[in-house]
Amino acid sequence: MNTLAPIVADTLLPDTGEPGFGVYVHWPFCAAKCPYCDFNSHVRHQPVDQERFTAAFLKEMETMRRMSGPKTVTSVFLGGGTPSLMDPATVEAILNGISRHWHMPDGIEITMEANPSSVEATRFRGYRAAGVNRVSLGVQALNDADLKFLGRLHDVADALKAIKLARDIFPRMSFDLIYARPRQTVEEWEAELAQAISYAVDHLSLYQLTIEEGTPFYGLHKAGKLIVPDGDQSAALYEATQEITARHGMPAYEVSNHAQPGAESRHNLTYWRYGDYAGIGPGAHGRLSRGSQKIATATERRPETWLEQVEAQGHGMVDQELLGYDEQADELLLMGLRLREGVDLARWQQLSGRDPNPDREQTLLEHGFIERIGNSRLRCTPKGMLILDAVVADLAF
Ligand code: SF4
Repeated sequence: MNTLAPIVADTLLPDTGEPGFGVYVHWPFCAAKCPYCDFNSHVRHQPVDQERFTAAFLKEMETMRRMSGPKTVTSVFLGGGTPSLMDPATVEAILNGISRHWHMPDGIEITMEANPSSVEATRFRGYRAAGVNRVSLGVQALNDADLKFLGRLHDVADALKAIKLARDIFPRMSFDLIYARPRQTVEEWEAELAQAISYAVDHLSLYQLTIEEGTPFYGLHKAGKLIVPDGDQSAALYEATQEITARHGMPAYEVSNHAQPGAESRHNLTYWRYGDYAGIGPGAHGRLSRGSQKIATATERRPETWLEQVEAQGHGMVDQELLGYDEQADELLLMGLRLREGVDLARWQQLSGRDPNPDREQTLLEHGFIERIGNSRLRCTPKGMLILDAVVADLAF
């Protein structure tokens, strides 16, 4: 029997075929490195020269503006790392820079990631005054033992304080939790998730703990000292997540993201609907259209090397790849199938120049991994979401 929650509603931010233009800015520093993290984040024991970094962000922005041409920005995302280690003046300078280079209408979504340990009211008020209107908090767990295991610098009391402050100061707020932790039972997760939902406003990001190569957890896992839930247990935790969030009016609109309809992250929707975005800062990626072509950009990951490169040549890009139609079609599929609304088939056909392979599509349909929405869209079922990578690989060729 399929116990997965049915797909109940599409996003209330409809896919109009114009996925928007986002600006992503990466702050690459953290107060400590979490043992599961493979993001581009670095710990520095000396103060970071924020003025110098700000000047470099602004300089790289100029290059990205030349590449993108004039655009209307539909969202900004300050990610990391821990952007809430930035001074409010740094955030203000970055946002002013964006509005000088592109058209930035009032009221667009401006999100900042923050860690509960780096939060205090004056900083939050400063970010709000600078223009940030949505905060995404890295809460990760609601019990102290697991927060310690995850290497977090905050405890539950700090997290709750940060959530309360964020709710008071920002019009929109989301927080992240990591589940499928060692020995976590479905019952424990259900209780924690219900508690989280009671603190949430209208958006939650719920990620399964994954063991990434090169992290301390990877070494422990390989040595048999860290056991994570197996496939069946992970699937049970995932199913419980879908069921509980849907029951509370925050269904998944993407594999790991849950929102009340209309409260989805516009910025992330731009990624998943395969829109353009400028990626600024160390290790940032971007996608910029040039006519019918798309350029994939990637910048140098090491912060100080990136800084010197920007100062010398105006940008820290180490890669600019022109994506062919097939590659764009694959990326569109990879991104779009993450979404509950699925992928726009006409757009995929236009890029790939073909229909989905009928035999493969039929097999996936028969096994209940995908479904058609009318003739125009294709999406993963909840069951298909569990094996998303395999579904995409099957459809892409
Ligand atoms: S705070 Fe976030 S970005 Fe920084 S090390 Fe931890 S998980 Fe990675």
